[in-house]
Amino acid sequence: MKLKDLINKTGDYDVSRFQLLKIISKIENKDMSYYLLNDDIKEGTIKKLLRVLNGYPLEYLINEVKFLNNKFYVDERVLIPRIETEDLVLYAKKTIEEENIKSIVDIGTGSGVIAISLKKYFPNMNVYAIDISEKALDVAKLNAKKLNVDINFYCGEYIEPIKDKISEIEMIVSNPPYVEESFKNNRLKYEPSIALYAGIDGQNFFKNLLKYEQLKGKIMLFETTEFNYKKTEEILKFFGNTKILKDSFDKKRFIEINNNNF
Ligand code: GLN
Repeated sequence: MKLKDLINKTGDYDVSRFQLLKIISKIENKDMSYYLLNDDIKEGTIKKLLRVLNGYPLEYLINEVKFLNNKFYVDERVLIPRIETEDLVLYAKKTIEEENIKSIVDIGTGSGVIAISLKKYFPNMNVYAIDISEKALDVAKLNAKKLNVDINFYCGEYIEPIKDKISEIEMIVSNPPYVEESFKNNRLKYEPSIALYAGIDGQNFFKNLLKYEQLKGKIMLFETTEFNYKKTEEILKFFGNTKILKDSFDKKRFIEINNNNF
């Protein structure tokens, strides 16, 4: 189908010609300028394009997400990493440098973006990554292999699988499920519920973490929602002094715990 006919066909969707071309070029893995000369769009591509316009995540369709300096494989087994989480990693990087951290754990690693990005920055750091979902861990392992890093992966909840190693671990990072149950919506329906939702108030993960008293005194960095960061902070005070950090959109959403510093 010619591009201009496709634009007519997709007229009902609120999408510009530029956006259409951008999606098409991602689906076909081509430069956008390619379509200046080649304006006949393949049937297969049009099918995929319509799925995306109807709400299916492009990242799942092309099995790829760019996160900081790397490209990660993703599919429906894992949450699609969000751009805000890049900020979490950059804050973690700063703290690791300042505190000379040698051992870290990522709880709820999903696709592995946090653990793997940090291991790339600090190849000599010991990185543990845990997830409750065996399927998600398979994706994280695939990414670690693809990006050529050595991570210690474990399946289980919270820090259960590494309880005997806790004294060795200096820092905890996590982008846990924190969405309120009532917030279930179409936009999120293709992603694993277990990665997103955390009870009526979205705080289940943080509340349950309190049973791990042995984490007191560790440096911690968590992502939470811009709407509920105060609730999260209240809960996490149990572990030590808290500090709220903002993402690049100026939204308060990260809680850092560091008894050495503040
Ligand atoms: N750690 C992964 C990420 O930040 C997965 C998070 C999750 O599944 N809640 O994208």
